[in-house]
Amino acid sequence: MSAGPRQPAGASDWVRRARAVMPGGVSSPVRAFGPVGLPPLFAARGEGARIFDDAGRGYLDYVLSWGPLILGHAAPPVVEAVTRAARDGMSFGACHAGEVELAERLAAWVPGVEMVRFVNSGTEATMSAVRLARAATGRDLILKFEGCYHGHADGFLVVAGSGVATLSLPDSPGVPAATSALTLTAPYNDLEAVDAVLAEHGPRLAAVIVEPVAGNAGLIPPRKGFLQGLRDACDRAGALLIFDEVMTGFRVARGGAQERYGATPDLTTLGKVVGAGLPVAAYAGPRDLMRRVAPEGPVYQAGTLSGNPLGMAAGLAQLEELERTDPFAALERRASTLVEGILSAARARGIPACGAAVGSMWGVFFTEGPVFDFDGARRADAELFARYYRACFERGVFFAPSAFEAGFLSTAHTDADIENTVAVAGEAMDAALAGAN
Ligand SMILES: *Cc1c(COP(=O)(O)O)cnc(C)c1O
Repeated sequence: MSAGPRQPAGASDWVRRARAVMPGGVSSPVRAFGPVGLPPLFAARGEGARIFDDAGRGYLDYVLSWGPLILGHAAPPVVEAVTRAARDGMSFGACHAGEVELAERLAAWVPGVEMVRFVNSGTEATMSAVRLARAATGRDLILKFEGCYHGHADGFLVVAGSGVATLSLPDSPGVPAATSALTLTAPYNDLEAVDAVLAEHGPRLAAVIVEPVAGNAGLIPPRKGFLQGLRDACDRAGALLIFDEVMTGFRVARGGAQERYGATPDLTTLGKVVGAGLPVAAYAGPRDLMRRVAPEGPVYQAGTLSGNPLGMAAGLAQLEELERTDPFAALERRASTLVEGILSAARARGIPACGAAVGSMWGVFFTEGPVFDFDGARRADAELFARYYRACFERGVFFAPSAFEAGFLSTAHTDADIENTVAVAGEAMDAALAGAN
């Protein structure tokens, strides 16, 4: 890790060249660093808990490619497995043992999983799960929660906050209103709102989809009884329950949120950790549902690169390492220490803050809290966050560049890294309060 100021905005030739040939200079919007007012990080390499930019500066990394790297960057077992696999060919377009081994592992670990279909992104996983739910129920509507993110498929890009049982408007140009009209929304953690939606639309509802620990509006844990309440509500309405565990899978427990909270969904989507940094995701569930997927059933879904041998090797190697080392309790302890450290630094300076750690996911909001839903999250002080963020980044700590994203931890983060980060956070709060940056 190195201190010292970064180059001013636009000074990097890569930033200039990127902006000329890629919208915003990025392959995914959050990477542009817009909300924190910094030029984007151009990564050159990663090693363990650190990511290095194109000028060779190292940053303690709490983004970890937005979740997948639970063993840290370039974890030797993963690198070895991928290297070995690559020598045997980059893709087969045919069945291979790696798919079976990874699917067997998922079925063994995740309570609601008996059968698995691999895809290439979380977006594909959730849109395919919804297609399957619609086919299985013969219904069209879905219910999602405000502030939850399920990838960028049309039906998920829906304005949050439009209230209970309101047919929603598109969140992005290019999404047909007719598509958005099939997506209902409710506030996270609000079972009464869910009941109200079901009372009006229950007989037309195919599925309720939820991040069982919300991680795309900052980190918002489910309130006690929320997930089981959804399970019961879906059963009453004859709708399917989909846990989008793309982020929570292998992070909040070995078997995901469904293991941790004891509520079992009908369908599960996985991504991020399951591919260890390669483009792997999956949708999965019990045999009777998954057998509806082609070629066993009529629900069509396919992929040229699905089940890619490098991705399968990477995912399997990472999960085997998790099995061998069982790091989940240690990860959660460190994540809690980090959050408590940051919160007590805030308290000492009179900055309103709240936060939580669930497994190796964590988050802090600059608001009094507690935060139960998206409206609560949006009360956080985004301007203070941006100043704090820049001061942390200058000091070599890389958090997600938005007040509304979860943080992650890897097994490569040491107690000393955590201590160091808490110290940096305190200094950064001083800088933010002084308005010096
Ligand atoms: C990241 C994420 C997605 C989308 O996955 P991509 O691989 O980016 O398409 C979907 N759902 C959740 C909960 C996520 O965190």
